[in-house]
Amino acid sequence: MLKPRKCLLDIREYHSPLGSAAKLRLDMNENTTGCSPRVLAKLQSMDAKKLALYPPREPGEQVAAAYMGVGPANVILTNGADEAIDLVCRGYLEPGDDVIIVPPTFAMYEVLAKAAGANVVRVPAGEDWVFPLEEVIQAVTPRTRIIFITNPNNPTGVAINRFNIVKIAAAAQDAAILVDEAYFEFCGQSMMDQVGKMKNVFVVRTFSKAFGMAGMRLGALAGSIEHISVLRRMCPPFNVNTCVLECLKEAVMDRQFVADYVKQVRETRDWTQQQLEELGFKCWPSHGNFVLCRLGDHKQAILETLQDCGVSLRDRPDCPGCVRITIGTQKEMEHVLYLLKEINTRIATANDPAPENPPAGPEGEASPEAQAAHEIKP
Ligand code: PMP
Repeated sequence: MLKPRKCLLDIREYHSPLGSAAKLRLDMNENTTGCSPRVLAKLQSMDAKKLALYPPREPGEQVAAAYMGVGPANVILTNGADEAIDLVCRGYLEPGDDVIIVPPTFAMYEVLAKAAGANVVRVPAGEDWVFPLEEVIQAVTPRTRIIFITNPNNPTGVAINRFNIVKIAAAAQDAAILVDEAYFEFCGQSMMDQVGKMKNVFVVRTFSKAFGMAGMRLGALAGSIEHISVLRRMCPPFNVNTCVLECLKEAVMDRQFVADYVKQVRETRDWTQQQLEELGFKCWPSHGNFVLCRLGDHKQAILETLQDCGVSLRDRPDCPGCVRITIGTQKEMEHVLYLLKEINTRIATANDPAPENPPAGPEGEASPEAQAAHEIKP
């Protein structure tokens, strides 16, 4: 009888969250404004013949490398950051090796490390999700082969001082230090300058977040030339599609688009956090395009009511009572806050957390004026 590898048996299937069908999707840390108009124009200009050809990745790697400030031989473009993480797992993990993760964090590290046959060693974040530097260093053993560091971290938004990452890389020279900078553009701190200098450091980036290109699937893995050259041997040659490779130059050249979006997200994030705290919900300062918020005992009812109103947030059962909220436009967040205030009032007054008639959302039963004030641009 055909049997899958044993290490796959205790991994659960991943299904993207049910909320994805919502009108306002704040559960995937996507750019709710879309991609740069220059990217869209390039995409629309493509012809049938171009689409019939296999995509050459190397020109794209030159563009991405220049954007990231490293040489083209230091970079592999990947099908999203997910594939970059997978490449490192498949490249360095033998069955029985250890990887270190710092939960709560991005779920795919554990999935991909386990799929490569590794044991996952969890070193939980400290109070207020502070990165546990000493504990991570103490957890390193001769079996440690990858240490996953997310900077800033998803879902907490906490940033780690880069000097602490240097300390870890120096203390664990037989391990790959995978620094996931998916949210780099919102934070500005990077280990990219150590790529090639510290041979065991890899940096992962994505075009899914600040660039608003999650649907096009583009990530990048940067590392020392020796290691990247080894990983190229096992990377499928046409892993990145023609459409995104054609658009990449436009994406990195439209710096204003990214700068404007990052500025808006930072401002709206601070406003959202302040409003949430005024409602009595604890938040943690975030360096990403999202905020972790503790809704407390009524979390499930609030999530369901919001879902009925067409808004999805990400439940984070690994952070008790918490949800992760992607920061949309100012108008979108005003709408969410309006709904949360309504729900909060109902909970407080009627002790009825899931009313039969959800508070008026974009398609609720509010007056036309109220609806207009809270109209959502999808
Ligand atoms: N790393 C982190 C920390 C993420 O949050 C995400 C996506 N949510 C990814 C990697 C994967 O990004 P991509 O869409 O490029 O696969």
